[in-house]
Amino acid sequence: MIPGAFDYHRPTSVTEAVGLLTQWGDDGRLLAGGHSLIPMMKLRLAAPAQLVDLAGIAELKGIRSDGGDVVIGAMTTQHELAHSQLLGDKIPLLRETTMQIADPQVRYVGTIGGNAANGDPGNDMPAVMMCLNATYQIVGKGGERRVPAREFYRGTYATALQSGDVLTAIRLPAPPAGHGYAYEKLKRKIGDYATAAAAVVLTMSGGKVASCSIGLTNVADTALWAEEAAKILVGSSLDAATVKRAVAAAEAITAPASDAHGPAHYRTKMAGVMLTRALARAQSRATA
Ligand SMILES: Cc1cc2nc3c(=O)[nH]c(=O)nc-3n(C[C@H](O)[C@H](O)[C@H](O)COP(=O)(O)OP(=O)(O)OC[C@H]3O[C@@H](n4cnc5c(N)ncnc54)[C@H](O)[C@@H]3O)c2cc1C
Repeated sequence: MIPGAFDYHRPTSVTEAVGLLTQWGDDGRLLAGGHSLIPMMKLRLAAPAQLVDLAGIAELKGIRSDGGDVVIGAMTTQHELAHSQLLGDKIPLLRETTMQIADPQVRYVGTIGGNAANGDPGNDMPAVMMCLNATYQIVGKGGERRVPAREFYRGTYATALQSGDVLTAIRLPAPPAGHGYAYEKLKRKIGDYATAAAAVVLTMSGGKVASCSIGLTNVADTALWAEEAAKILVGSSLDAATVKRAVAAAEAITAPASDAHGPAHYRTKMAGVMLTRALARAQSRATA
């Protein structure tokens, strides 16, 4: 359980980090909280020769309002997300999700950027970022670009990030006041990755769903945005028959592996159960 040899670098600016990564190409790897990467290195599933630690870059930290958006620096820890008053007020789904990631030890050092950039379908943040229609701000050799979370994930550990890229921040439009939200996660034990999980944000008007967005965790080789399922619910009162149709539409886009979490058909069904629960809880929280 000892990683291979590597050189360690601690840049103090994003420009310096991009320069180092560009210099080493595939031999270089970013280090954030290390709580996904270091275990992979210890198992020799990753063996970067050059490790570029982002911990010394102050501009990658912090949570701020920008017009109707909230902008979160990539090196903001999960602990900081969970205790942010701004997020609690504007995007409480993030706090609810964060508190279901691992345990306090992991959350003290694990970062939102590392969780989102990792590309593991078992991570909780990607589906929530899709649900919230987040945009990822990325700086690379060619300057800055923005990629919607809904277009970022390409496969297991495959994302829109290219060699030399640093995810610097995540920009989230704050859902309207009075929105309902929920993250329902089935796990085998406290602190575990999801067997299946569902994120929901919705607004209600006159007893009907005015808008709805759904993300699913760990039931395919990437997180999923369940666009068709959400469309079915808009205009409904979330009656049982419509919820059943929407859940069937969500289940239809899943393609989980059979693994230690259970057989594939069970995980698909659990995604449906988590979605049903998340919709009910989101509805109970919506005040508009
Ligand atoms: C016991 C245990 C239980 C866990 N349970 C859960 C769980 O239930 N749910 C969950 O979601 N996660 C879980 N995790 C993972 C944890 O949340 C990690 O912290 C997270 O996945 C990665 O964040 P990090 O900051 O540690 O990133 P790192 O491990 O440092 O990096 C992860 C990957 O992202 C890349 N990267 C990091 N930052 C950037 C950036 N800014 N730009 C571009 N690339 C970047 C790295 O190069 C690396 O490839 C668990 C971890 C442990 C050890």
